[in-house]
Amino acid sequence: GCDCKRLLKNNWLLISTVVAVVLGIGLGLVVREYGKLSNLDKFYFAFPGEILMRMLKLIILPLIVSSMITGVAALDSSVSGKIGLRAIVYYFCTTVIAVVLGIVLVVTIKPGISQSADDIDRTGSTPEVTTVDALLDLLRNMFPENLVQACFQQYKTKREELKPSKDPDKNSTIDKNSTFDLFSTDQENKTKEYKIVGLYSDGVNVLGLIVFCLVFGVVIGKMGEKGQVLVDFFNALNDATMQIVQIIMWYMPIGILFLIAGKIIEVNDWEIFRKLGLYMATVLSGLAIHSIIVLPLIYLIIVRKNPFRFAMGMAQALLTALMISSSSATLPVTFRCAEEKNRVDKRITRFVLPVGATINMDGTALYEAVAAVFIAQLNDMNLDVGQIVTISVTATAASVGAAGVPQAGLVTMVIVLSAVGLPAEDVTLIIAVDWLLDRFRTMVNVLGDAFGTGIVEKLSKKELEQMDVTSEVNIANPF
Ligand code: ASP
Repeated sequence: GCDCKRLLKNNWLLISTVVAVVLGIGLGLVVREYGKLSNLDKFYFAFPGEILMRMLKLIILPLIVSSMITGVAALDSSVSGKIGLRAIVYYFCTTVIAVVLGIVLVVTIKPGISQSADDIDRTGSTPEVTTVDALLDLLRNMFPENLVQACFQQYKTKREELKPSKDPDKNSTIDKNSTFDLFSTDQENKTKEYKIVGLYSDGVNVLGLIVFCLVFGVVIGKMGEKGQVLVDFFNALNDATMQIVQIIMWYMPIGILFLIAGKIIEVNDWEIFRKLGLYMATVLSGLAIHSIIVLPLIYLIIVRKNPFRFAMGMAQALLTALMISSSSATLPVTFRCAEEKNRVDKRITRFVLPVGATINMDGTALYEAVAAVFIAQLNDMNLDVGQIVTISVTATAASVGAAGVPQAGLVTMVIVLSAVGLPAEDVTLIIAVDWLLDRFRTMVNVLGDAFGTGIVEKLSKKELEQMDVTSEVNIANPF
């Protein structure tokens, strides 16, 4: 009776999202069967979903900027340093655990042993980057040369092979200064000459903004009286942004319904799922163990509260991540769940969530480790302990380097593959199923960030309470 009504009222958004997912799957299957849609029709069909994605992406810029700046400015720098350090330690430990878990599973299950690489059709094209490029791009993105540009573009390196022209005159026009000797282990590559092409790809350079906002927040927090106007401004911006997020959430079920239906209509190669079944099962079971056992256990040990209740509070964010495969675009929802449902201190979420969405990716790290070993198995390559360690380290780095956007992890895979001398183009072996695995690993990425807020809050209780006392004194006694 009454209890049911309250449950419905408090969770109507979650409930309508779940209903939307179910309806979307049903609609997708029906239209797929009877719709006879042309490719263009399919594109139009998913349009309401495209609008949802646009709205979520739209809001992450003001959200990240205002939450980071106010988050850092509100803490005094010794406190924010401690909280930041705890968050980093948490990110690092959980990521490493995820990698080890992935390796243990893939080495035991051996999904690639009974198969050879030739059995699987290669789809798509190889990303033209190397380990060095990917790591340098990570640093470049941390220090954007143009703040305005960082709001809508991030740096990507592309290599273009310099083809010796048949015309000897043209050949001499190649600028030797723009070529670059590879650090690559690939012998064949060393003989080729490449031109490095810097290009900017779509999407907010979240990492660059975070680094800037961190510094900016600390500086205005220290300026005292003079900086206060800026602190107030960004606080107001943050409040306004969260209200807009609330409006977007109203539209969410509709957008999600069409996103999922559109995807079901679009996928045309289900056969590949059978071929790569064991590999997918390995990744998915690793993700499941990490999110149902490992993370809850850490939360339980440190916070001593029910981790599943906490995870249930995040349900809306987890479902969103599953539907849109982007931790950055899920960020607005993650904020709302952590602050409204789980009542995590805003001073913690503002700091831990934006940074976590960008660098803390347990799911991606686990996936990269499994995928690399899987590809080695397909190539009949026996990995020694050193190579396993190399894969673990590079998978961790690759998960930090991956942006919180769909299938970013697939691109940073080349870091892991080339580090152990596997052909980078073998990522094409797993591209066909990546869109599906991407959803699940993104969900685990978001869950990891969420548990992080609870854990860092608990560990920082003392400092936070101390701050409350000081600010109360300030209010009571303005002189
Ligand atoms: N899509 C993932 C995320 O946004 C990144 C990845 O591709 O692994 O968290």
